[in-house]
Amino acid sequence: MTYQNYSLAQLREADAAHHLHPFTDHKDLRAAGSRIITRADGPFIYDTEGNEILDGMAGLWCVNVGYGRDELADAAYTQMKELPYYNSFFRCSTPTPVLLARKLAEIAPSGLSQVFYGSSGSEANDTAVRLVRHYWALEGKPEKNHIISRNWAYHGSTIAGTSLGGMAAMHGQLHGAVPNITHVMPPYAYELAEDGESDEAFGLRAARAVEEAILEAGPENVAAFIGEPVMGAGGVKIPPASYWPEVQRICRKHDVLLMLDEVITGYGRTGEWFAAQSMGIEPDTITTAKALTSGYQPLSALLVGDRIAGTLVEKGGEFFHGYTYSGHPVACAVALKNLEIIEREGLIERVRSETGPYLGKALKERLGDHDLVGEVRSFGLLAAIEIVKDKAAKKRFDPVGRAASCVRDHAIATGVMMRAVNDTMILSPPLIWTKATIDMACERIARALDLARTELRHG
Ligand code: PMP
Repeated sequence: MTYQNYSLAQLREADAAHHLHPFTDHKDLRAAGSRIITRADGPFIYDTEGNEILDGMAGLWCVNVGYGRDELADAAYTQMKELPYYNSFFRCSTPTPVLLARKLAEIAPSGLSQVFYGSSGSEANDTAVRLVRHYWALEGKPEKNHIISRNWAYHGSTIAGTSLGGMAAMHGQLHGAVPNITHVMPPYAYELAEDGESDEAFGLRAARAVEEAILEAGPENVAAFIGEPVMGAGGVKIPPASYWPEVQRICRKHDVLLMLDEVITGYGRTGEWFAAQSMGIEPDTITTAKALTSGYQPLSALLVGDRIAGTLVEKGGEFFHGYTYSGHPVACAVALKNLEIIEREGLIERVRSETGPYLGKALKERLGDHDLVGEVRSFGLLAAIEIVKDKAAKKRFDPVGRAASCVRDHAIATGVMMRAVNDTMILSPPLIWTKATIDMACERIARALDLARTELRHG
Protein backbone atom coordinates (compact mmCIF):
# COMPACT_ATOMS: atom_id res chain seq x y z
CA MET A 1 0.00 0.00 0.00
CA THR A 2 1.39 3.37 -0.94
CA TYR A 3 0.51 5.30 2.20
CA GLN A 4 3.75 4.01 3.77
CA ASN A 5 5.55 6.49 1.49
CA TYR A 6 3.90 9.35 3.33
CA SER A 7 4.70 10.69 6.76
CA LEU A 8 2.03 11.12 9.40
CA ALA A 9 2.35 14.90 8.97
CA GLN A 10 1.78 14.63 5.22
CA LEU A 11 -1.28 12.43 5.68
CA ARG A 12 -2.73 14.80 8.26
CA GLU A 13 -2.06 17.78 6.04
CA ALA A 14 -3.79 16.19 3.04
CA ASP A 15 -6.66 15.09 5.25
CA ALA A 16 -7.17 18.63 6.46
CA ALA A 17 -6.83 20.07 2.94
CA HIS A 18 -9.19 17.76 1.07
CA HIS A 19 -11.24 15.47 3.23
CA LEU A 20 -14.62 16.46 4.65
CA HIS A 21 -15.43 13.91 7.36
CA PRO A 22 -18.83 12.55 8.40
CA PHE A 23 -20.42 13.93 11.59
CA THR A 24 -17.52 16.28 12.24
CA ASP A 25 -16.96 19.88 13.30
CA HIS A 26 -14.46 20.77 10.62
CA LYS A 27 -13.12 23.81 12.40
CA ASP A 28 -12.41 21.67 15.41
CA LEU A 29 -10.92 18.84 13.33
CA ARG A 30 -8.55 21.16 11.50
CA ALA A 31 -7.33 22.52 14.82
CA ALA A 32 -6.88 19.10 16.41
CA GLY A 33 -5.87 16.94 13.42
CA SER A 34 -7.19 13.45 12.80
CA ARG A 35 -6.20 10.12 14.29
CA ILE A 36 -5.12 8.03 11.32
CA ILE A 37 -5.68 4.29 11.65
CA THR A 38 -3.34 2.35 9.40
CA ARG A 39 -3.95 -1.29 10.16
CA ALA A 40 -5.87 -3.65 12.36
CA ASP A 41 -5.67 -7.24 13.46
CA GLY A 42 -8.16 -9.38 15.39
CA PRO A 43 -9.64 -7.14 18.10
CA PHE A 44 -6.99 -4.38 17.79
CA ILE A 45 -6.58 -1.27 15.67
CA TYR A 46 -3.25 0.54 15.23
CA ASP A 47 -2.67 4.21 14.51
CA THR A 48 0.26 5.87 12.79
CA GLU A 49 2.00 6.39 16.14
CA GLY A 50 1.95 2.60 16.62
CA ASN A 51 -0.60 2.69 19.45
CA GLU A 52 -2.46 -0.59 19.87
CA ILE A 53 -6.09 0.10 20.74
CA LEU A 54 -8.72 -2.48 21.63
CA ASP A 55 -11.62 -1.71 19.33
CA GLY A 56 -14.60 -1.56 21.65
CA MET A 57 -16.84 -0.31 18.84
CA ALA A 58 -16.07 -2.94 16.14
CA GLY A 59 -15.31 -0.05 13.78
CA LEU A 60 -18.77 1.53 13.72
CA TRP A 61 -20.71 -1.42 15.16
CA CYS A 62 -19.83 -3.56 12.16
CA VAL A 63 -16.60 -5.59 12.27
CA ASN A 64 -18.24 -8.56 13.99
CA VAL A 65 -15.66 -11.16 12.92
CA GLY A 66 -12.73 -8.88 13.80
CA TYR A 67 -9.96 -7.62 11.57
CA GLY A 68 -7.45 -9.40 9.36
CA ARG A 69 -9.66 -12.11 7.85
CA ASP A 70 -7.82 -13.39 4.77
CA GLU A 71 -10.84 -15.44 3.77
CA LEU A 72 -12.88 -12.30 3.23
CA ALA A 73 -10.13 -10.69 1.17
CA ASP A 74 -9.88 -13.89 -0.89
CA ALA A 75 -13.64 -14.00 -1.47
CA ALA A 76 -13.54 -10.42 -2.78
CA TYR A 77 -10.48 -11.08 -4.95
CA THR A 78 -11.92 -14.21 -6.52
CA GLN A 79 -15.26 -12.54 -7.26
CA MET A 80 -13.60 -9.42 -8.67
CA LYS A 81 -11.61 -11.50 -11.10
CA GLU A 82 -14.62 -13.53 -12.18
CA LEU A 83 -17.24 -10.79 -12.32
CA PRO A 84 -16.50 -7.50 -10.55
CA TYR A 85 -19.87 -5.99 -11.33
CA TYR A 86 -23.08 -6.56 -13.09
CA ASN A 87 -26.45 -5.06 -12.24
CA SER A 88 -29.64 -6.74 -11.15
CA PHE A 89 -31.93 -4.41 -13.11
CA PHE A 90 -33.71 -5.36 -16.35
CA ARG A 91 -34.37 -8.99 -15.42
CA CYS A 92 -30.68 -9.68 -14.80
CA SER A 93 -29.08 -11.31 -11.80
CA THR A 94 -25.68 -12.58 -10.75
CA PRO A 95 -24.96 -15.63 -8.60
CA THR A 96 -23.76 -14.18 -5.28
CA PRO A 97 -26.78 -11.95 -4.46
CA VAL A 98 -29.04 -14.89 -5.28
CA LEU A 99 -27.16 -17.27 -2.99
CA LEU A 100 -26.97 -14.64 -0.28
CA ALA A 101 -30.72 -13.99 -0.49
CA ARG A 102 -31.35 -17.71 -0.08
CA LYS A 103 -29.03 -17.80 2.93
CA LEU A 104 -30.67 -14.74 4.50
CA ALA A 105 -34.10 -16.32 4.08
CA GLU A 106 -32.75 -19.35 5.95
CA ILE A 107 -31.45 -17.41 8.97
CA ALA A 108 -34.12 -14.66 9.11
CA PRO A 109 -37.13 -14.93 11.42
CA SER A 110 -39.79 -17.00 9.70
CA GLY A 111 -41.96 -15.11 7.26
CA LEU A 112 -39.15 -12.84 6.06
CA SER A 113 -37.96 -14.64 2.99
CA GLN A 114 -37.18 -11.87 0.50
CA VAL A 115 -34.34 -9.38 0.27
CA PHE A 116 -33.80 -5.95 -1.29
CA TYR A 117 -30.14 -4.88 -1.44
CA GLY A 118 -28.41 -1.53 -1.06
CA SER A 119 -24.99 -0.39 0.04
CA SER A 120 -25.72 1.23 3.40
CA GLY A 121 -28.12 1.21 6.30
CA SER A 122 -29.43 4.62 5.26
CA GLU A 123 -30.23 3.35 1.78
CA ALA A 124 -31.96 0.30 3.20
CA ASN A 125 -34.17 2.48 5.39
CA ASP A 126 -35.00 4.68 2.40
CA THR A 127 -36.01 1.49 0.62
CA ALA A 128 -38.08 0.41 3.62
CA VAL A 129 -40.01 3.70 3.71
CA ARG A 130 -40.68 3.62 -0.01
CA LEU A 131 -41.65 -0.03 0.14
CA VAL A 132 -44.16 0.20 2.99
CA ARG A 133 -45.79 3.24 1.40
CA HIS A 134 -45.87 1.45 -1.95
CA TYR A 135 -47.40 -1.58 -0.26
CA TRP A 136 -50.31 0.39 1.14
CA ALA A 137 -50.81 2.16 -2.19
CA LEU A 138 -51.00 -1.23 -3.91
CA GLU A 139 -53.51 -2.28 -1.28
CA GLY A 140 -55.65 0.69 -2.32
CA LYS A 141 -54.81 2.77 0.76
CA PRO A 142 -52.34 5.43 -0.42
CA GLU A 143 -53.33 7.69 2.48
CA LYS A 144 -51.94 5.08 4.92
CA ASN A 145 -48.46 6.57 4.69
CA HIS A 146 -47.59 8.02 8.11
CA ILE A 147 -44.68 6.47 9.96
CA ILE A 148 -44.22 6.53 13.73
CA SER A 149 -40.65 6.62 15.04
CA ARG A 150 -38.99 7.67 18.30
CA ASN A 151 -36.92 10.45 19.74
CA TRP A 152 -33.27 9.40 19.93
CA ALA A 153 -33.71 6.90 17.10
CA TYR A 154 -30.95 6.67 14.54
CA HIS A 155 -31.93 5.41 11.11
CA GLY A 156 -29.25 6.94 8.91
CA SER A 157 -28.19 10.23 7.46
CA THR A 158 -29.93 10.55 4.10
CA ILE A 159 -32.92 12.89 4.09
CA ALA A 160 -35.32 10.01 4.76
CA GLY A 161 -32.95 8.47 7.33
CA THR A 162 -32.61 11.76 9.17
CA SER A 163 -36.36 12.33 9.04
CA LEU A 164 -37.01 8.87 10.48
CA GLY A 165 -34.36 9.38 13.13
CA GLY A 166 -35.10 11.29 16.29
CA MET A 167 -31.87 13.24 16.67
CA ALA A 168 -32.74 16.86 17.39
CA ALA A 169 -29.40 18.23 16.15
CA MET A 170 -29.76 16.43 12.82
CA HIS A 171 -33.35 17.63 12.41
CA GLY A 172 -32.09 21.15 13.07
CA GLN A 173 -30.04 20.96 9.87
CA LEU A 174 -32.70 19.23 7.77
CA HIS A 175 -34.59 22.32 6.55
CA GLY A 176 -37.58 20.26 5.57
CA ALA A 177 -38.10 16.68 6.68
CA VAL A 178 -39.85 13.93 4.75
CA PRO A 179 -43.52 14.52 5.60
CA ASN A 180 -45.77 12.34 7.73
CA ILE A 181 -43.20 11.02 10.19
CA THR A 182 -43.85 11.56 13.90
CA HIS A 183 -41.70 10.78 16.90
CA VAL A 184 -42.65 9.46 20.32
CA MET A 185 -40.75 8.91 23.56
CA PRO A 186 -38.02 6.23 23.59
CA PRO A 187 -38.02 3.37 26.14
CA TYR A 188 -35.17 4.97 28.10
CA ALA A 189 -35.93 4.12 31.70
CA TYR A 190 -32.77 5.63 33.22
CA GLU A 191 -33.89 9.16 32.38
CA LEU A 192 -37.59 8.87 31.65
CA ALA A 193 -39.05 6.46 34.22
CA GLU A 194 -40.89 8.19 37.07
CA ASP A 195 -39.66 7.75 40.64
CA GLY A 196 -40.88 4.37 41.84
CA GLU A 197 -42.18 3.33 38.40
CA SER A 198 -41.28 -0.31 37.72
CA ASP A 199 -39.39 -1.26 34.58
CA GLU A 200 -42.40 -3.17 33.40
CA ALA A 201 -44.80 -0.29 33.92
CA PHE A 202 -42.40 2.12 32.21
CA GLY A 203 -42.05 -0.23 29.21
CA LEU A 204 -45.82 -0.36 28.82
CA ARG A 205 -46.11 3.41 29.13
CA ALA A 206 -43.46 3.94 26.44
CA ALA A 207 -45.23 1.44 24.15
CA ARG A 208 -48.55 3.21 24.68
CA ALA A 209 -46.98 6.42 23.42
CA VAL A 210 -46.84 4.60 20.09
CA GLU A 211 -50.57 3.87 20.29
CA GLU A 212 -51.35 7.49 21.16
CA ALA A 213 -49.46 8.64 18.05
CA ILE A 214 -51.32 6.10 15.90
CA LEU A 215 -54.67 7.26 17.26
CA GLU A 216 -53.76 10.90 16.81
CA ALA A 217 -52.87 10.41 13.14
CA GLY A 218 -55.78 7.98 12.67
CA PRO A 219 -54.91 4.29 12.18
CA GLU A 220 -56.25 4.52 8.63
CA ASN A 221 -53.38 6.94 7.91
CA VAL A 222 -50.52 5.07 9.60
CA ALA A 223 -48.36 2.81 7.45
CA ALA A 224 -45.80 1.60 9.96
CA PHE A 225 -43.88 1.95 13.18
CA ILE A 226 -40.07 1.83 12.94
CA GLY A 227 -37.65 1.07 15.76
CA GLU A 228 -34.24 -0.32 16.61
CA PRO A 229 -34.72 -3.30 18.97
CA VAL A 230 -32.02 -1.70 21.15
CA MET A 231 -31.40 1.95 20.27
CA GLY A 232 -27.73 2.12 19.31
CA ALA A 233 -26.33 5.48 18.29
CA GLY A 234 -28.86 7.12 20.60
CA GLY A 235 -26.94 5.63 23.54
CA VAL A 236 -27.57 1.86 23.74
CA LYS A 237 -31.02 2.35 25.23
CA ILE A 238 -32.33 -1.12 26.11
CA PRO A 239 -36.11 -1.38 26.42
CA PRO A 240 -37.75 -3.14 29.35
CA ALA A 241 -39.00 -6.64 28.47
CA SER A 242 -42.60 -5.38 28.46
CA TYR A 243 -41.98 -2.89 25.63
CA TRP A 244 -41.78 -4.86 22.38
CA PRO A 245 -44.64 -7.30 23.01
CA GLU A 246 -46.90 -4.32 23.70
CA VAL A 247 -45.68 -2.44 20.60
CA GLN A 248 -46.31 -5.58 18.58
CA ARG A 249 -49.82 -5.93 19.99
CA ILE A 250 -50.61 -2.27 19.25
CA CYS A 251 -49.32 -2.51 15.67
CA ARG A 252 -51.42 -5.62 15.02
CA LYS A 253 -54.51 -4.07 16.58
CA HIS A 254 -54.33 -1.04 14.27
CA ASP A 255 -53.00 -2.90 11.21
CA VAL A 256 -49.79 -0.89 11.29
CA LEU A 257 -46.69 -2.57 9.83
CA LEU A 258 -43.71 -3.13 12.11
CA MET A 259 -40.33 -2.14 10.68
CA LEU A 260 -37.29 -3.17 12.71
CA ASP A 261 -33.97 -1.47 12.14
CA GLU A 262 -31.36 -4.10 12.94
CA VAL A 263 -28.44 -2.32 11.28
CA ILE A 264 -26.59 -2.65 14.60
CA THR A 265 -28.28 -5.64 16.20
CA GLY A 266 -28.29 -7.89 13.12
CA TYR A 267 -25.93 -10.80 12.55
CA GLY A 268 -25.22 -12.01 16.04
CA ARG A 269 -24.74 -9.06 18.33
CA THR A 270 -27.63 -10.00 20.61
CA GLY A 271 -26.87 -13.72 20.74
CA GLU A 272 -29.19 -14.69 17.88
CA TRP A 273 -28.89 -13.89 14.19
CA PHE A 274 -31.37 -11.07 14.76
CA ALA A 275 -32.64 -9.27 17.84
CA ALA A 276 -36.17 -10.03 16.58
CA GLN A 277 -35.38 -13.61 17.57
CA SER A 278 -33.78 -12.64 20.91
CA MET A 279 -36.80 -10.52 21.81
CA GLY A 280 -39.61 -12.48 20.16
CA ILE A 281 -40.61 -9.67 17.76
CA GLU A 282 -42.39 -10.52 14.50
CA PRO A 283 -41.69 -7.62 12.15
CA ASP A 284 -42.76 -6.99 8.56
CA THR A 285 -39.35 -5.66 7.50
CA ILE A 286 -35.85 -5.83 8.99
CA THR A 287 -33.22 -3.34 7.90
CA THR A 288 -29.70 -4.80 8.02
CA ALA A 289 -26.22 -3.67 6.92
CA LYS A 290 -22.89 -3.32 8.76
CA ALA A 291 -22.14 -6.82 10.14
CA LEU A 292 -23.67 -8.49 7.08
CA THR A 293 -20.13 -8.19 5.67
CA SER A 294 -18.47 -7.35 9.00
CA GLY A 295 -17.78 -4.00 7.31
CA TYR A 296 -15.34 -5.53 4.82
CA GLN A 297 -17.60 -4.34 1.98
CA PRO A 298 -20.46 -1.83 1.94
CA LEU A 299 -23.71 -3.80 1.73
CA SER A 300 -27.22 -3.61 3.15
CA ALA A 301 -30.12 -6.00 2.94
CA LEU A 302 -33.71 -5.11 3.68
CA LEU A 303 -35.43 -8.32 4.72
CA VAL A 304 -39.02 -8.19 3.55
CA GLY A 305 -41.91 -10.13 5.02
CA ASP A 306 -44.22 -12.31 2.99
CA ARG A 307 -47.20 -10.00 3.46
CA ILE A 308 -45.49 -7.10 1.67
CA ALA A 309 -43.61 -9.24 -0.86
CA GLY A 310 -46.81 -11.19 -1.60
CA THR A 311 -48.64 -8.01 -2.55
CA LEU A 312 -45.74 -6.82 -4.75
CA VAL A 313 -45.81 -10.08 -6.67
CA GLU A 314 -49.56 -10.48 -6.78
CA LYS A 315 -50.46 -6.95 -7.84
CA GLY A 316 -47.43 -6.41 -10.07
CA GLY A 317 -46.49 -3.03 -11.56
CA GLU A 318 -42.94 -1.72 -11.43
CA PHE A 319 -41.57 -0.58 -8.06
CA PHE A 320 -39.54 2.39 -9.29
CA HIS A 321 -36.66 2.03 -6.88
CA GLY A 322 -33.15 0.59 -6.72
CA TYR A 323 -29.47 1.39 -6.70
CA THR A 324 -26.63 0.77 -9.15
CA TYR A 325 -25.01 -1.35 -6.47
CA SER A 326 -28.13 -3.26 -5.36
CA GLY A 327 -26.86 -6.83 -5.11
CA HIS A 328 -23.23 -5.97 -5.80
CA PRO A 329 -21.54 -9.30 -6.64
CA VAL A 330 -18.33 -8.62 -4.70
CA ALA A 331 -20.07 -7.33 -1.59
CA CYS A 332 -22.44 -10.32 -1.66
CA ALA A 333 -19.53 -12.77 -2.05
CA VAL A 334 -17.92 -11.25 1.04
CA ALA A 335 -21.21 -11.40 2.95
CA LEU A 336 -21.63 -15.11 2.16
CA LYS A 337 -18.14 -15.86 3.45
CA ASN A 338 -18.67 -13.66 6.51
CA LEU A 339 -21.87 -15.50 7.47
CA GLU A 340 -20.02 -18.77 6.98
CA ILE A 341 -17.30 -17.63 9.42
CA ILE A 342 -19.87 -16.52 12.00
CA GLU A 343 -21.51 -19.95 11.81
CA ARG A 344 -18.35 -22.03 11.64
CA GLU A 345 -16.81 -20.33 14.66
CA GLY A 346 -20.00 -20.46 16.70
CA LEU A 347 -19.76 -16.71 17.37
CA ILE A 348 -23.47 -16.22 17.99
CA GLU A 349 -23.66 -19.07 20.45
CA ARG A 350 -20.61 -17.63 22.20
CA VAL A 351 -22.32 -14.24 22.60
CA ARG A 352 -25.52 -15.87 23.84
CA SER A 353 -24.10 -18.23 26.43
CA GLU A 354 -20.69 -16.84 27.31
CA THR A 355 -19.45 -13.40 26.34
CA GLY A 356 -22.80 -11.57 26.39
CA PRO A 357 -23.61 -12.47 30.00
CA TYR A 358 -19.96 -12.08 30.98
CA LEU A 359 -19.68 -8.57 29.53
CA GLY A 360 -22.69 -7.42 31.56
CA LYS A 361 -21.44 -9.05 34.74
CA ALA A 362 -17.84 -7.83 34.39
CA LEU A 363 -18.82 -4.24 33.63
CA LYS A 364 -21.25 -4.16 36.56
CA GLU A 365 -18.86 -5.77 39.03
CA ARG A 366 -15.81 -3.77 38.10
CA LEU A 367 -17.28 -0.40 37.16
CA GLY A 368 -20.73 -0.29 38.70
CA ASP A 369 -19.53 1.09 42.05
CA HIS A 370 -17.36 3.81 40.54
CA ASP A 371 -18.63 7.20 41.68
CA LEU A 372 -18.87 8.49 38.07
CA VAL A 373 -21.04 5.55 37.01
CA GLY A 374 -24.80 6.06 37.28
CA GLU A 375 -25.82 2.83 35.55
CA VAL A 376 -24.29 -0.05 33.60
CA ARG A 377 -26.57 -1.93 31.21
CA SER A 378 -25.99 -4.46 28.48
CA PHE A 379 -27.74 -6.73 26.01
CA GLY A 380 -25.62 -9.31 24.21
CA LEU A 381 -22.47 -7.49 23.12
CA LEU A 382 -23.97 -4.03 23.41
CA ALA A 383 -23.33 -2.03 26.57
CA ALA A 384 -23.73 1.44 28.03
CA ILE A 385 -22.28 3.24 31.02
CA GLU A 386 -24.07 6.36 32.24
CA ILE A 387 -21.62 8.99 33.49
CA VAL A 388 -22.91 11.16 36.33
CA LYS A 389 -21.73 13.72 38.82
CA ASP A 390 -24.06 12.47 41.56
CA LYS A 391 -25.09 8.83 41.46
CA ALA A 392 -28.03 9.01 43.88
CA ALA A 393 -29.56 12.10 42.30
CA LYS A 394 -28.67 10.96 38.73
CA LYS A 395 -27.24 14.45 38.28
CA ARG A 396 -24.98 15.07 35.28
CA PHE A 397 -21.88 17.20 34.92
CA ASP A 398 -22.22 20.55 33.14
CA PRO A 399 -22.32 21.06 30.20
CA VAL A 400 -23.98 17.94 28.79
CA GLY A 401 -21.47 15.71 27.02
CA ARG A 402 -18.31 17.03 28.66
CA ALA A 403 -17.95 14.19 31.15
CA ALA A 404 -18.42 11.26 28.78
CA SER A 405 -16.13 12.88 26.20
CA CYS A 406 -13.52 13.18 28.93
CA VAL A 407 -13.91 9.48 29.82
CA ARG A 408 -13.79 8.57 26.13
CA ASP A 409 -10.55 10.48 25.56
CA HIS A 410 -8.94 8.75 28.54
CA ALA A 411 -10.26 5.38 27.37
CA ILE A 412 -8.65 5.79 23.96
CA ALA A 413 -5.41 6.89 25.62
CA THR A 414 -5.47 3.85 27.91
CA GLY A 415 -6.11 1.63 24.91
CA VAL A 416 -9.81 1.01 24.37
CA MET A 417 -11.87 2.66 21.66
CA MET A 418 -15.28 3.67 22.96
CA ARG A 419 -17.86 6.26 21.98
CA ALA A 420 -19.63 8.92 23.98
CA VAL A 421 -23.26 9.83 23.25
CA ASN A 422 -24.05 12.87 25.36
CA ASP A 423 -23.11 11.50 28.79
CA THR A 424 -23.47 7.84 27.96
CA MET A 425 -20.40 5.74 27.13
CA ILE A 426 -21.12 2.92 24.73
CA LEU A 427 -19.50 -0.36 23.74
CA SER A 428 -20.19 -2.64 20.78
CA PRO A 429 -17.19 -4.95 20.47
CA PRO A 430 -16.48 -7.56 17.80
CA LEU A 431 -18.06 -10.95 18.48
CA ILE A 432 -14.57 -12.47 18.65
CA TRP A 433 -13.96 -10.91 22.07
CA THR A 434 -13.29 -13.56 24.69
CA LYS A 435 -13.63 -13.33 28.47
CA ALA A 436 -9.95 -12.34 28.56
CA THR A 437 -10.55 -9.49 26.10
CA ILE A 438 -13.49 -8.34 28.21
CA ASP A 439 -11.26 -8.39 31.32
CA MET A 440 -8.65 -6.32 29.48
CA ALA A 441 -11.30 -3.82 28.38
CA CYS A 442 -12.75 -3.50 31.90
CA GLU A 443 -9.34 -2.84 33.37
CA ARG A 444 -8.62 -0.11 30.80
CA ILE A 445 -12.05 1.50 31.22
CA ALA A 446 -11.61 1.48 35.01
CA ARG A 447 -8.31 3.32 34.60
CA ALA A 448 -9.94 5.81 32.23
CA LEU A 449 -12.74 6.44 34.74
CA ASP A 450 -10.19 7.15 37.49
CA LEU A 451 -8.30 9.59 35.29
CA ALA A 452 -11.55 11.25 34.24
CA ARG A 453 -12.65 11.56 37.88
CA THR A 454 -9.47 13.46 38.72
CA GLU A 455 -9.96 15.76 35.75
CA LEU A 456 -13.69 16.31 36.22
CA ARG A 457 -13.69 16.75 39.98
CA HIS A 458 -10.45 18.64 40.39
CA GLY A 459 -9.54 19.82 36.90
N1 PMP B 1 -29.75 2.38 11.24
C1 PMP B 1 -29.06 2.19 12.36
C2 PMP B 1 -29.74 1.56 13.54
C3 PMP B 1 -27.72 2.56 12.44
O1 PMP B 1 -27.05 2.39 13.58
C4 PMP B 1 -27.10 3.13 11.30
C5 PMP B 1 -25.64 3.52 11.31
N2 PMP B 1 -25.01 3.65 12.50
C6 PMP B 1 -27.88 3.31 10.16
C7 PMP B 1 -29.19 2.92 10.15
C8 PMP B 1 -27.30 3.95 8.93
O2 PMP B 1 -26.39 3.10 8.31
P1 PMP B 1 -25.32 3.72 7.30
O3 PMP B 1 -24.41 4.60 8.08
O4 PMP B 1 -24.66 2.49 6.73
O5 PMP B 1 -26.08 4.46 6.26
